[in-house]
Amino acid sequence: MLGLTGRSSDRQKPNPVVAKANKRLASRFYQLRTGHFLTGQYLAWTTRRPDATCWWCQYSIQTREHLFKNCPQWRCQQKTLWTTVLKETTKLPGPTRRRDRTSIAELLADERCSQAVLQFLTTTDIGRTSGPPVAEDEGRGQRGLGVGSAGPGGAGLGEGDGGD
Ligand SMILES: [Zn+2]
Repeated sequence: MLGLTGRSSDRQKPNPVVAKANKRLASRFYQLRTGHFLTGQYLAWTTRRPDATCWWCQYSIQTREHLFKNCPQWRCQQKTLWTTVLKETTKLPGPTRRRDRTSIAELLADERCSQAVLQFLTTTDIGRTSGPPVAEDEGRGQRGLGVGSAGPGGAGLGEGDGGD
């Protein structure tokens, strides 16, 4: 009975690597893990942005996956990240993590990769802001005439995000 019951608490215990990081960084990391991360996808879902477009490269859906693997804005950092991840996971016991076969969920759950992920967050603006202000009046206003709808005007939904 004693001692044989594995480590069921592993999941809840704070990640030691992340615990050593500064608070802001750590909080970005945990947001990333829970999915409450400032991606276009998440912000569109919370209605803080009108759509999920990546504000760095205009790709149609900005997801964690996109930011960690594909967004051209962060190409160098992505390269460093995945090179480090591959190196670390090859060196240490456990499955080897390669960019093309590793989901972001797997990456984040793997403590061997945490340092590299934190480094990645430090060197990018990913998850730091909710993007540039949305230019709402581009398509409207100027046309004037006819389109007399008062419009919802986005009121009510913008319950501040405490920017920074
Ligand atoms: Zn992008």
